[in-house]
Amino acid sequence: MAKVAINLATGAIQQDELIVGIDLGTTNSLVAYVHPETRQPAAINDLGRGAIVPSVVHFPVDGSSPLIGTEAKDFLLSDPANTIYSVKRLLGKSYRDLGQHAGQLGYKVIDDDSERLVKVRVGERFYSPIELSADILRELRQRAEHALKTPVRRAVITVPAYFNDSQRQATRDAGRLAGLEVLRIVNEPTAAALAYGIGLDPAEEKTVAVYDLGGGTFDISILRLHQGIFEVLSTHGDTWLGGDDMDRAIGEHWVTQAALPPSFRLVPGQRQQLRLAAEMAKRYLSQHDDFTTQLVDGEENVFAVTLTKAEFNGLIAPLVARTIDACRLALSDAKLTTDGQPATAKIDAVLLVGGSTRVPLVYDEVSKFFDQPANRSLDPDEVVALGAAIQADILAGNRRDVLLLDVTPLTLGIETLGGLLDAIIPRNSKIPTKAGRQYTTSVDGQVNLKIGVYQGERDLVSENRKLGEFVLSGIPAMPAGLPKIDVNFFLNADGILRVEAVELRSDTRQQVEIKPQYGLTDEQVEQMLLDSLTNARQDVAARLLIEARTAAEQLLYQVGRFLKKNAAHLEETEVNATNEQADQLRQALAGNDRDLLLKHMDELDELTRPFAERVMNLSIKQAMSGKQIS
Ligand code: ADP
Ligand code: MG
Repeated sequence: MAKVAINLATGAIQQDELIVGIDLGTTNSLVAYVHPETRQPAAINDLGRGAIVPSVVHFPVDGSSPLIGTEAKDFLLSDPANTIYSVKRLLGKSYRDLGQHAGQLGYKVIDDDSERLVKVRVGERFYSPIELSADILRELRQRAEHALKTPVRRAVITVPAYFNDSQRQATRDAGRLAGLEVLRIVNEPTAAALAYGIGLDPAEEKTVAVYDLGGGTFDISILRLHQGIFEVLSTHGDTWLGGDDMDRAIGEHWVTQAALPPSFRLVPGQRQQLRLAAEMAKRYLSQHDDFTTQLVDGEENVFAVTLTKAEFNGLIAPLVARTIDACRLALSDAKLTTDGQPATAKIDAVLLVGGSTRVPLVYDEVSKFFDQPANRSLDPDEVVALGAAIQADILAGNRRDVLLLDVTPLTLGIETLGGLLDAIIPRNSKIPTKAGRQYTTSVDGQVNLKIGVYQGERDLVSENRKLGEFVLSGIPAMPAGLPKIDVNFFLNADGILRVEAVELRSDTRQQVEIKPQYGLTDEQVEQMLLDSLTNARQDVAARLLIEARTAAEQLLYQVGRFLKKNAAHLEETEVNATNEQADQLRQALAGNDRDLLLKHMDELDELTRPFAERVMNLSIKQAMSGKQIS
């Protein structure tokens, strides 16, 4: 039922609440809307603070409520351990997914169980990336409400085209936690194209490339518009490539060239100082030819560092080359019919998106590769949010002539005999979509069939991401090969999957919404929502203790498993020290002292980490020399 309100000032009837578009970025976030009268999309700039909200959350040491955005960013330098940035990198990910990247962040990422979602530790508390993203979304929502003087309850949120199911689900959960009804999750390149007005004229036929280089992710997408339908032909990219890598390359260059003391690598505050100076250099060199600044170490020693544009271009050339390689792959995946012409001739426009496309070398290389000047007429920082606002406007029913199709970024399939992935919905399929296949049993009298659902491009399921598993039970006993089991995948417009299995002879059926391993249940989200709304201190304390207990139990389990598996590679003294430390943690588990638990967990973690790293290096070495390690 549509809500109707009367504007008391003008007497006009306002239909429906506003729907905003949100670019929840790795580095920067912003919210935009389509102005109800001018019908133009605009980024929302509350209190003249600028539209861009850095995606940073800072937890003050005095326990007062978190700071978000620019105010929080200032603490990257002075209090890195309590200042969380790039949380989007963690969204919907397990510690295993993160691998070596976990250590690159200035704050603590907790490996509470390698299969489950990561958590961030801030002082005494553990936060999920969903909660932290919700903090950013809540800030954006409040800014929008303040600036527009109207409640904001509904939103479209964008995600990189490469986001998988669990990451999309996590984004949706974060929105709900921030009190937003998320009407649609939209791919960033799709939003960007919309912002450029592509997809709004049904008579238009166009093929465009969207090149998005942000702070942490890179995406290249080939989109095709025809007959009012907007289709993503292919997407490629790298979720670990962006402006941050340019900053890191500059930092590394200074550490070696300017002979900075090791403290600039080791001391978190100095590491951040280096990072921020590097970013400043990069931005400066987008306009100038030479950059100079000074860095100060812990003993007040001053180090002058410089960077020329030519040096900078040399440092980032390999990164830019990687993006061009991805462009090449995306073009060939798009399977454009070329009539002997180069595929780039089929691209009508190249759109530049993301702050890092302000780097002149990026513009030059992209224009060179596509053999045409890339389009950068819209602010590359705002373009995704503007497009999200247009998508919101479409969903609000204000542009009925537009229809958007999207594609799924990764293949979805199920496990078959021998641990192989059987693809049901191949990558780059248009969504929403449905597809299915028929299976049978492999053993006489088999009454249950386990169905494991995976996402990824590798042949072996073990190399892909497991999304969930369910059992079709109650199959009547029949000889092997006789039952007919239809497995169907339904992928909705948000990229969320429902799987259904039916044994046709007996009409035994089972259906699941796939998300258990990575998403949150509705109850969990509601629980978190309640917790975030109420301030009942005891409740929170009790929950924290339980969380710490669970984490401690998981750590003990993992350490035990590690010792057992790697006994051959460990010294006796190491094993003994670990056992002693583990015993202390076990004793702490018997009590109710959360601080003590966390302290012993930390100590156990610190103690075993070097062994674990050593064993890992060893297994990598052995694997490289051709030996199989299991
Ligand atoms: P994300 O989509 O990952 O949130 P953005 O699109 O906001 O990222 O881009 C942020 C990145 O853009 C950062 O790495 C930032 O340093 C970089 N950036 C912003 N302005 C400039 C500039 N003028 N020159 C070079 N890089 C820039
Ligand atoms: Mg972005």
